[in-house]
Amino acid sequence: MNNIFEQIRDYILSDGDLIVVSHFSPDGDAIGSLLAFGEILKQLNNDYILAIDDTLPQKYNFLPGFNQIRNTQESPINRVFERVVILDAGSLPRIGSVKSCINKQTRILNIDHHFTGPSYGDINYIDVDASATAEILYGLCNFLDIEFTPRIIYGLYVGILTDTGRFRFSNTSARSMEICGDLISKGVDPSWVTENVYYNHPFEYLQTLAEVLLNMKLYFNGLACIISLDQNEKIKDTDGFVEYASSVKGVALAAFIYEREARYYKISLRSRSRIDVSEVAKKFGGGGHKKAAGFLYRGGKDDLIQNLLDEFEWQIKIRNIQPDNSLFEQPQEDI
Ligand code: 5GP
Ligand code: MN
Repeated sequence: MNNIFEQIRDYILSDGDLIVVSHFSPDGDAIGSLLAFGEILKQLNNDYILAIDDTLPQKYNFLPGFNQIRNTQESPINRVFERVVILDAGSLPRIGSVKSCINKQTRILNIDHHFTGPSYGDINYIDVDASATAEILYGLCNFLDIEFTPRIIYGLYVGILTDTGRFRFSNTSARSMEICGDLISKGVDPSWVTENVYYNHPFEYLQTLAEVLLNMKLYFNGLACIISLDQNEKIKDTDGFVEYASSVKGVALAAFIYEREARYYKISLRSRSRIDVSEVAKKFGGGGHKKAAGFLYRGGKDDLIQNLLDEFEWQIKIRNIQPDNSLFEQPQEDI
């Protein structure tokens, strides 16, 4: 453990211009980890850019430092960096256009908790037992003796809170709770965070959610649930929609299909059974965790739904999921 932290410390203390990036479709862990890492770099006297190749969900704008994150879709970065730090992204395509900041000389530091294929960094710290990338960064902060300023404590807390689904998913551990407890004792106001992240939706978000839920469909005797939203001007942040589909009683597999651009879809998958949705996502070129995964799809919606249903049917069959018992099984492994 200390060895990898020492390598990360040497990397941070080394020379070379530096950019820190997380994945597109950013979630609370992507944004919180980015802000916390920026603060670590600042305390260790680095200049740096924080970047995400996407629109940032505004519900996180209460986080100290939020405005420092550059959306490279709006303001692209057209140069190569000597050092690129990649947080919470299981594969290089997940950072979008920021990939163009990397060439053969670039040294990559990769910190993540996703289980994926071969590591792509020069230094890789992958801990699949960590509930969030933020959980890994908490350990790093302690090792480096970083001062727990608001950017650190709020960034880390939001990362763990959102990646555990408010301490609901099976990746919630004693350690994630202990860390959050410590962050609260260091100054985080948990109620303020939860109010901002989960109970502060734009009116249009809830109106659109209502329309989406009215068209919710069940398949395979209620074992699968699919919801979808066509391209629209009203809302861009659909975070949380899929959780409604997966919270239907008896549902083992859920999907939310969101048309980001014409004929270009983002699909969120959730499992509440033995089925590993990252396997499903991988078949479509995506990835993720056992219980939560996703992928992007270009093409027609009818074809997409048909392909997805075929895959769902196959998974239900090979895992022998029955309508009555799927939700009562104890999860065998963590996501
Ligand atoms: P969400 O559905 O909340 O956007 O994503 C759930 C999880 O699925 C994320 O934590 C991430 O690991 C994974 N994921 C979502 N979309 C993609 C994708 O397009 N590619 C890959 N590799 N993983 C994804
Ligand atoms: Mn994460």
